[in-house]
Formats: sequence, C-alpha cells, structure tokens
Amino acid sequence: MTKAQQQRRRLNVRHQPLVGFHPAGPETQARPHAFSDFELVTQTSPPVFGNTALVDQGGPRIDFADIRLIFWGSAWASDPNRSAIMNAVASVAGSPYATKLAQYGCRGMSVDGRGPLLITSNPPNPFTGQNVGDFILSLLDNETLPEPDEDFRLVPVVLMPSGFQYQPPAGGQAAFGAHGSIEWDDFELGDVDNSNAHYVWILNRSVSGMTSTFCHEMVEIVTDPEGNGWRVPTAPNGQDEIGDICNNLTLTSGGVNYHYYWSAQDNACVLPINQTGQYQVTCINKPFRKDAFHPLGFLGGVHRSGPLNGQGFKLTQKEAIALIDKGENFFVIGSEGHRAPVNVLLHFPPGHEVFGTRYLATGADQWKDDNLLSLPECP
Ligand SMILES: [Zn+2]
Repeated sequence: MTKAQQQRRRLNVRHQPLVGFHPAGPETQARPHAFSDFELVTQTSPPVFGNTALVDQGGPRIDFADIRLIFWGSAWASDPNRSAIMNAVASVAGSPYATKLAQYGCRGMSVDGRGPLLITSNPPNPFTGQNVGDFILSLLDNETLPEPDEDFRLVPVVLMPSGFQYQPPAGGQAAFGAHGSIEWDDFELGDVDNSNAHYVWILNRSVSGMTSTFCHEMVEIVTDPEGNGWRVPTAPNGQDEIGDICNNLTLTSGGVNYHYYWSAQDNACVLPINQTGQYQVTCINKPFRKDAFHPLGFLGGVHRSGPLNGQGFKLTQKEAIALIDKGENFFVIGSEGHRAPVNVLLHFPPGHEVFGTRYLATGADQWKDDNLLSLPECP
C-alpha cells in the first residue's frame, strides 16, 4: 500500500495536543517526612497545587502502558544522554512508582521490547504540540507505529532534541512536556469502535529534568489519556491531572529524578519507589578486637543515598545483617579510596557448632586498611 493510500484510510483526525502538560517552573527537591529504606511512600503536605478534588470522569485509561521511546532529531545520534534516559525510564517503569497507580485502574508500565526509535529528521524550531501530533501521525501512516486500535496500550514518548524550543499556543504556558491524543476514524473498516492514539513529548533539558517530566506525563497519560479520566474538574484545563497537583516536586533516588503524584488513597503527594540504601561504615564498637569470639557490638557510619544522605547511622550487627539480607549495601572505604563491600559470613564458635553464627566482614582483598577491624571505635 502506498503512503497516499495509507493516508486515505483515515477519514477524520481530531488532535488534542494538550490533554495535559507539565507546566515549566523551578523544581523543588522534596524533603520527605518519613523514610523507609525499602518502599518509600513519601507524603508532603500541603500539595503544590491547591485543588485536590480529583474525580473519575469515566473516560478510558491505559491499564498497562507499553512505553516506546522515540528520539526525534539528528542531534540524538551522538547525544550521550540517550542511554542515561533509557536507563532512567526502565527504572521508573519497573518500580512501585508505576504499580501504585492501580488505585486509578492502571496496573503498571513496561518498556516496549522492540527498543527505542531514532528518527533523524528534525522537528521545526520552535516546535508546537501540533508538530508533535503530526509527527506521530506520520509514524502511524508509514507503519512505524501500529494503528491505535491494534495497540491501545502503546505510549510513544517523543524526546525532543537538544536546542529545540517549545512554542505554546497563543495565551498558553511554557511547558516541559505534554501528553496528547489523536482521535482516529478508520475509513476502510467503517470502524465504530475507533481507538485514539496517545503520545507524550518531552522538552530537551538535563537528564534529571527530562526524567521528572517523563514521570509527570506518564502518570497523567495512563490515568487520563483523553481528557475525560481522572481529573480535577475545577482546575485550569491541561493542569488538572494527578501530576499537576504535585507539580515540580521531585526527589532523586538511585540517580533517577522522580516526580511526585497525587494519591487519592493516601490523600497526599506520593513517591512510591524501591530504594537500595548505601551505608558507608566508618567505625565499629567491639570489645577485645583481636578476639574473634567477641561479636561486633555496633557499626556506625554515614548514609550515602536517599533522603538521609550525609546523615549518620549506628546499628547493631544483627540490624545490619537484616538490612544486607534485604538488599542494602554496606561498605568500607580505605584510605586510598577503594571500596570494600561488607558481607554476611557464617562461623561456628563454641556453643554454635551446629547452626553457626552469622557475622559481618569485608571481602578479602589485597588491601589492609579497608576491613571492619581497621576502623576506629565509634563514639
Ligand atoms: Zn500535568
């Protein structure tokens, strides 16, 4: 089928380029009230955006998003941020950040196994929402993307190239990104159950900025793909979705900058993520240091990740073992900067000949100054 024939298959196209958007503005790194190392559901009050009267308006939602990254523009071919963005997107999709949206009828997200697309034609500069919509239509027409009614779950995420600016509509606001919807009536089939194509675009800025916008737009497109799903009816149009309520409130964890969203369940802005803690051990308490039969009393040190980054900790050996068992990382840094992991080992002292006792030690290596026993006593 020729391209002209393809295009004739569409009887009607109505494009809504600003179903929702990510209003530009300074981002605030959150200082969460509560922190648990494993599942962080952080609440902030009050929310950034005052009106939280979220209503399900009954429209469709995307129950499980299939994310297809599309790097648009020739600059991406040599842009080193591409792999960092792909990694951040995979982290977000695989975390409880996505699954906590189940309360809105959205069970999760995954990254499409066909991999990202690199389209080296350039957008106009500045570009409009309409330009991105037309770009999506061209990819549907040439069958780079499946027709909407073949894959309702598909969410193409268009990453704009470095140096390209967004032109809002007259009277519109500056935006870091937006999600849109294209209503598609199929000519050949006389289809009555027409499905809409949905998409996200993200303005080029820092990796953490683009990741935050990705989060903002993803939670909005799955809960309100067509502007009649989960919304705050009294809020300004386009700023009435679950990301907007917490607009530009972010938290960087594990190198990924997440954007908070509104959880009706918690009545708060939340950030549900898995957090692998990093604990640098800098001191220990142990009587009779050379005597292996006296257990380690305490380990002290500094958090090197998450909201407690830079703050101190002091744990018993048993507590530290429990954390390591759950996947947390403990380590010692030697005077020359090498990092030795702290591992859980088993030994069989008198009285524990059968089941043994678990204890902590740094991995054996050629260094002498990075093992637990070389550390000073904790105060
Ligand atoms: Zn928004």
